[in-house]
Parts: sequence; structure tokens; C-alpha cells
Amino acid sequence: MLVLKFGGTSVGSAKAIRQVYEIVKGIDESKVVVVSAMSGVTDSLIKASALAVSHDEGFKDVFASIKKKHKDTSIELFGNELDSVNELLNELEEILFAVYMLGELSDRANALIQSFGERMNARIVSKYFQTMGLKSAPVDATTFLITTSDYFDANPLYEESEKRAQKILGRYIKEGFTPVVTGYIGSDVNGAITTLGRGGSDFTGTILGRLLDAREVWIYTDVNGVLTGDPKVVQGAKTIEKLSYAEVRELSYFGAKVMHSKSLIPAMEKHIPIRVLNTFDPNGPHTLISDESAFLGPKAVTSIKDIALVSVEGKGMQGLKGISRRIFERASKTGVNVIMIAQSSSEQTVDLFVNEGVSDRLIEGLKNEFDNEIKLGLIDKISSKKNLSIVSIVGDGLNRDESLHKEIFRISYAYGIKVISIVQGSSENSLSFVVKRGDVGKILNALHSELGLTGQKIKTINIFQFGVGSVGKELIKLIKENESYFERDLNLRIRYVGLARSQGFAKSDEVKEHIEKWDFNFKNSGSPLNYIKSLPKNTVIVDVTNSDSIAMDLLELLSLGFNVVTSNKKNLATDFETFKKFTTSKGKFLFETTVGASLPLIKVLREFINAGDTIYRIVGLPSGTLSFIFTLVNRGESLKDAILKAVELGYTEPNPVDDLVGMDLLRKGKILSYVIGKDFKENDVEFECFTRAKNLDEFFEKDYKNFEQKIRNLLSPNSVVYPVVEIEDKLRITLKAFPKDSAFGSLREGENIFEIYLKNFSNIPITIRGLGAGLRVTAIGVLQDILSLEAYI
Ligand code: ADP
Ligand code: ASP
Ligand code: MG
Repeated sequence: MLVLKFGGTSVGSAKAIRQVYEIVKGIDESKVVVVSAMSGVTDSLIKASALAVSHDEGFKDVFASIKKKHKDTSIELFGNELDSVNELLNELEEILFAVYMLGELSDRANALIQSFGERMNARIVSKYFQTMGLKSAPVDATTFLITTSDYFDANPLYEESEKRAQKILGRYIKEGFTPVVTGYIGSDVNGAITTLGRGGSDFTGTILGRLLDAREVWIYTDVNGVLTGDPKVVQGAKTIEKLSYAEVRELSYFGAKVMHSKSLIPAMEKHIPIRVLNTFDPNGPHTLISDESAFLGPKAVTSIKDIALVSVEGKGMQGLKGISRRIFERASKTGVNVIMIAQSSSEQTVDLFVNEGVSDRLIEGLKNEFDNEIKLGLIDKISSKKNLSIVSIVGDGLNRDESLHKEIFRISYAYGIKVISIVQGSSENSLSFVVKRGDVGKILNALHSELGLTGQKIKTINIFQFGVGSVGKELIKLIKENESYFERDLNLRIRYVGLARSQGFAKSDEVKEHIEKWDFNFKNSGSPLNYIKSLPKNTVIVDVTNSDSIAMDLLELLSLGFNVVTSNKKNLATDFETFKKFTTSKGKFLFETTVGASLPLIKVLREFINAGDTIYRIVGLPSGTLSFIFTLVNRGESLKDAILKAVELGYTEPNPVDDLVGMDLLRKGKILSYVIGKDFKENDVEFECFTRAKNLDEFFEKDYKNFEQKIRNLLSPNSVVYPVVEIEDKLRITLKAFPKDSAFGSLREGENIFEIYLKNFSNIPITIRGLGAGLRVTAIGVLQDILSLEAYI
């Protein structure tokens, strides 16, 4: 025998009720059906009674809408209204009217009013089954489900209920009927109608399962079972195929509406499996709830949105006996459910988390309770903080997962969310913490993807990029091209959250549009600094400009803990002090592409230094353009032809003289010196400025001869000449000859080379060489730096 429970949306319209019939018809086994009120009806009933009791005629409109909903549905299903429903509607109207007249609404009357939703609906659904040829009868649970007299939170009295259920429902089942039972309601021993608490039809389902010893209880709802998060909040939430009772109990206790929290108890006690299925996708994925969990570890996230923190504080509390007991007793007397408790280690504060709606009531109760202690100065303050939410991660065995706390702090820091309180070792199957209400959607989604609840842990890296010049655009392209690869193979989602250039910036969603349209005219003017500061710390700041004016901004962002990647030499090459500020800040600062584009150079130098070695000499050619020109010259071409060819192929700066001056080599030389810890003062820098010309024509006219002569003087049949950076006792930018059979002798056009001499490597340098210029190559280097930050996010 099966119990099939259909929730509000599953029986919320004529179309849905037809679908329910299709499902029921398809199941051969004998069954009892439990139905909720049509969706929204219980809310409307509560609203109508609240209006009526405050003498507001508005209750009539609400009643009219309830009436219309049931009548329309009946007419659509049967072509006419149902007498049995009309009778109930008349009765309901009379009761509401009495409440309106008297201005009084007892809990008992309130529960009675709320019972009409289920009672009307059971009649409609059962009638439809009959119309379709299925033997069926509506059954009010008040006839057999005897409960305690708590009108809004009643508990079943099993012994008495079992006898009655067996008798009433047993007979129907034996005769091949499918009874349609009202969910949510019962009756106390005096015959007064009670409710099982909001969402309580699930509870009716499992209570019936227990009373009738059902094989399984199937809960039909509007989603595919229990998901990894509420699909209304969490993107990409997926069905969890197997969960333990305890896991679902914890999930629903901490806010997941999909099952009523108490509904797990009767099934758990009798080991009755529960399935949670989708009425509108009955053969789709669903959840099986039983004694067993599929695996240990986090499975789902959930939240309770409107929470207040009530704190009892006082230096004198340390010595007070039984304080927690008194707090709880008073809370319970005041009718307040304490959802969570946290105590500071010094025992000077007890923090209680309760539903926001009851916090004022609790404070009043506690102030009365501790009146004496307050007067004696043992308790200083009883106060509340509102607008909070509890966020919970649920899964069997969480108390054994010691890394989870660390993960929560990492993720909340990365996403810029403050954890207000964390509950230590709260339970075996859940871990809860408190955030501001405004942060709850963000943290649920972050936890959901970063903890890998759908099977894949996805980390998000945001990018705010300064510069949309040629390297900037290439980087955007590169990231776009690799998006799915990052996600699939690296478990990384890389997302632009901002783009800036000197004329303005784009933020959040605007960025996507600019990239899609490949249009970089940004709307927002002024500095983006304040916007960036508001971004979470999983945002990497990328500087691919040539500007020397954003150094201060970058330093400020670094000091706030943002990580920065740059390909911009200008900020770094100013002086050693500035360099140190960049590299020793709170955030990580990576600048691999400032020298040798994406050749692995700076990280290699740093790794050797970190391991205790000393770099005593570097000779390098860190310019692709000069490498190109001089390789041709070394091969016998004239310097002029080589320069013109480089210009023609677009290998030079817009003003080609900039490459020839040697300034670029000097900047890179300084950066390399700083990296290996050398701060050369002015006297220790020998900069052989190759020309002071303003443009190429002037260069050819004034300096060319001289320059070419210098080269000729150094060149011999067995040597090559390159302008190089040489770091040893001094920093030199100079023209230098090398034997043809040396590493320099075999350079190809555009190749960079670095010979690194280390103390522990005798006199044999480590040589790093390869293509060290070009947009693509530089963008790849910047991306490598970004990806390497993953470990710090
Ligand atoms: P019913 O009326 O069928 O009882 P409810 O509205 O009470 O349905 O519960 C189903 C709703 O629970 C879903 O529509 C979904 O928004 C919400 N929900 C919250 N958390 C979860 C979760 N982890 N898995 C599935 N649904 C969830
Ligand atoms: N109709 C009730 C409510 O809305 C019970 C339920 O739907 O489970 O709370
Ligand atoms: Mg429900």
C-alpha cells in the first residue's frame, strides 16, 4: 500500500488535478491519496480571518476570491458547481462573518477556518476521480487523526488514530477505493479541529504511512525531488537521488520548504521510505529518503531568511548558574522557538537566533525573567539585531569534516560576505552560520558552486581590467575562447566584473554587453575605484595599460587585499621603494609579463631566491623588436633595412625610436634587479642611450651613422652583437658582442634570452629563451598569472 501526497501546486488548478488523476491511475498498487489546499488558499484563509477580526470588510473580497477559485475549478472539471463544496463555502462565509461581527478570533476558530482549504479540495479531487471511473471517496482527516490540542502545531496521538484509521480507511482500501484524505488537519479529543503547522500536509502523508503501515510514502510537489538548493534561489540546483531522514529533517528545519520538518519522524521510526517526486515530471529525477545516505559530506544548502539575533550580555554572567536553562525556559513559556544558540567562550554573552517576528516578544520575556540580575548589574544588556539570515550546509558526517569551517571563511571572504556568527559543531548533519539578510542569495550560490554540490567544485574568479588596448582586447578574447575549458577542466569560472580605460569604465552586467558588441565606449565617467572597492575579494585587478598614473590606485587596492596582475612596466620601474610596496602588500602582486612577455622568468628567479640561492649575474635581451633588428644585422643586413623591415611588419612601437632609445631595456633591467634584490643607485646604472632622436627621420639623420659604427666595431666574423641588459656589480644597458657559438649566436628573430648565473650552479647559467613579444604571448602570460592566483582565492 502506498500513500501519495499531492501539494498545493499539484492540485492548484483543474489542469493540475487532471494530471494528478493520470498519475494515480497509473499506479496499480492500492493507495491512499492526501491532498493540500489549492495553492495560495491557506494564505488567503489566514488573511481573510485577520481582516475579519480587525473589522475590515476586505475579508469579503478575499473570501470571494477563494469562492471563485473553487467554483471555476469545479466548473472546468465537471461542468457545474459541487454541492458539497458550496456547503462548505457557505459555512466558511458564516464563520468569517461572525468573526467580523464579534471582533474575536480564538486559536480554535482560526484553525477551523484554515481547515476549509483542504476540506474543499479533497471533495473536488475525489469527485474528479469518481467522474473518471475510479472508485474514490473524500475523507476528512478529522475523523481519524487525533492530535494534541495545539491548534497550529499539533502532534498525532498515534494509538487512538491508528484504530480509527484502520477502521475508516482500511474498509475503503479493502473495497478497492482510493480515499482522498485532507492534509494539514486533525482533531483533538474534544473534536476541535487542529492543524499540523504550515506545510503540514507532508506530515499527514507520513503519519498515514505509519498508521496504515504503508510500503512507501510518495510526496508529489512542483520540483524534481529534494534539490541541492532551493531552485528559486540557487542557480543550477540539482536533484539529490538519495538522502537520509536525518539529512532531510535538518534541511527542512533550516528552511527548505520542500518537506515539513516533522514529517520525517513517523517515517524514520517505522523505516518507511519516502520518495519526493514532481507532479509535472513524474518520471523525471526524484529523491529517495531512507535510513541511508548516499555518501558523507555536504549535499545541499538552505537558509532561513528572516532571523533576529537576541543577545544577553553581562560581565557578571560567568558566575550565574543555570542561565541557559532559564533563557530556554522563558523562551518556551513565551512561545518562542530558539532556532540556534551560540555562546562566546568567555561566557559573557549568550546569542539566540529566533524568527524575526518573535524577537521583540522574547526580549520582553527575558527582561522580565532577569529583572533582578539586571538591577544587580550582573546582566548589562538584552538586545536584538534584525535583518539576518541563517545559512546551513547539510549532509551526513559534516561534524567530521574539519576543513568545512575553513572553506566557509574562504568563500565568504572571497565573495565579500561577512560571517556574523558561526555555530560550532551544531549537529552531526549540518553546519550553520549567520549573515546579513541581503547577502543570503549570494552566499547560497557561492557555497553551492564552490563546495561542489552538483558534483563539480567551481571556483569563481572575477576580473576588473584596466586597459582595453591591444593586449587588453587579446586577453578578453583569450578568456572568452577558453571559458568552457576553464569550467570543465580547471573547475574555474572566470568572469569580467569591470573594464576601465582612461575615458570611463563599465561595471557588472554592462561588461558582458560591451564584450558581446565588442564596443569599448564606456558610459561611467570618473574613477572606478569606489566601485572596485565594493567588489568581493575574489576579484583580480588586471592592469594591461601603459599608464603610469594608476600606481596609487593599485597600491590602495593591494592594501585592501585585492590581488593584482600587471603587464605594465611603468609602475614598477620607478624605484625600489615603490617596487617593494607593490610586492609586499596584503594582496598578491604578479607581473611576469613585464619582462620577457610570458617566458617563465620572474617566477623562476623568485623560486630560486626563495630556496636560498643567490643570483649574482643576469645577461639578457628582453626586447623582441631589438632581437628582430639585430638578428638581421648580425646576418649581414644593413641596420637601416633591418629597422625599416621591423617597422613594416609592425614589430615596433608606434614611434619606432622608442624601441631604439633603450629606455625599455632600462625599465626591464630595473625590474629584474629589483626582483633579485638589487637596488642600483644612479652611479651604478650605466645606460648607454642609443639615440636621443624624436623620430625615425631625425634618428637616421643624426645618430644613425654613429650607432652603426659602434655595431661594426664590435662585430667580427665570429661574433654577434646585441643590445643587452647586464646585471652584476652594476646595471648596464649596453651593446655587447657574443661568440657565434654562444647561446646569443643562435638567436632567431624576435627571440628573447636570459642567462641567469646562480651561486649554486657554478658558472653555468640557467638559460631561458623563446619568443618574448607579441599580443597573444603577452595575453597568455597575463592569464597565467591570473590562473595562478586561484590558490589564494
Ligand atoms: P507543496 O505545495 O508541493 O508542498 P512547497 O511549496 O511546500 O510544495 O515546497 C516545494 C518548494 O520547496 C519548491 O518549489 C522549492 O521552491 C522549495 N524548496 C526549498 N528548498 C528546496 C530544496 N532543497 N529542494 C527542493 N525544493 C526546495
Ligand atoms: N495548505 C497548508 C499550507 O499551505 C498545508 C500544506 O500545503 O502542506 O500550509
Ligand atoms: Mg509543502
